[in-house]
Amino acid sequence: VLNGSKMWITNAPIADLAVVWAQAPDGIRGFLVERGTRGFSAQEVAHKFSLRASSTGALFLDEVRVPQRAALPRAVGIKGPLSCLTQARYGIAWGVIGAAQACLSEALMYTGERSLFGRTLVHTQAVQIRLADMVRSLSTAQLLALQLGQLKDRDQLRPTQVSLGKWNNCRAALQIARECRDLLGGAGITLEHVAIRHMLNLETVVTYEGTETIHQLSLGRAVTGVAAF
Ligand SMILES: Cc1cc2nc3c(=O)[nH]c(=O)nc-3n(C[C@H](O)[C@H](O)[C@H](O)COP(=O)(O)OP(=O)(O)OC[C@H]3O[C@@H](n4cnc5c(N)ncnc54)[C@H](O)[C@@H]3O)c2cc1C
Repeated sequence: VLNGSKMWITNAPIADLAVVWAQAPDGIRGFLVERGTRGFSAQEVAHKFSLRASSTGALFLDEVRVPQRAALPRAVGIKGPLSCLTQARYGIAWGVIGAAQACLSEALMYTGERSLFGRTLVHTQAVQIRLADMVRSLSTAQLLALQLGQLKDRDQLRPTQVSLGKWNNCRAALQIARECRDLLGGAGITLEHVAIRHMLNLETVVTYEGTETIHQLSLGRAVTGVAAF
């Protein structure tokens, strides 16, 4: 019998099946709960200003009875949900690079074409320095993600290393998106260009799959040996 609620669940309003992690007498267990099960309901989160293409909702479980076969057989303890998160966070460390690349390539095109007082923006040192700085930050993010992938291939990837990658790459991508948005001037605030859309979506990506602070605390624990949370 499952009881509880959880906000911020991607696809909750449209999913036919939910994976629910619940505290059971023998530790945390995973359960598959089908839409339509008595006591199980979902509600859409309205007025999102970020990740608007993705449906988000809250799940409510009120005395929901599921059969024994709905329990994930070998997932007992916090390791189950945490290992899912490590995989998802690793994917995010790559995904945000794509968003940053899209913004940067648009900013390169825009500053190469936008002419002010007889010269295009790329002819100014300040603009070139800003573009170069974004390339530095993007390349660092790419190398970090590549290294995580190589560790993963060797089965040596640790959750704290993924925390570092998720945190660094989301922050880098968000800063690049903001910088590109600004380089486009007024045009940067319209949906004719990609920067503001990526920028707003990246605000969610910085928050979900562990906020920046939580990844910082995880790294803090790894280097000090002290859990501050
Ligand atoms: C669009 C979207 C989709 C999502 N999809 C899913 C999903 O499919 N499944 C799922 O399970 N979750 C999902 N999430 C939830 C997401 O993972 C959480 O929103 C996120 O982990 C932050 O939790 P919270 O919103 O409860 O913030 P809180 O935990 O309330 O945090 C608020 C602030 O306090 C800070 N904080 C919290 N604890 C500490 C501490 N000990 N010390 C210092 N600072 C602290 C946080 O860093 C943050 O800045 C989604 C979220 C969004 C926005």
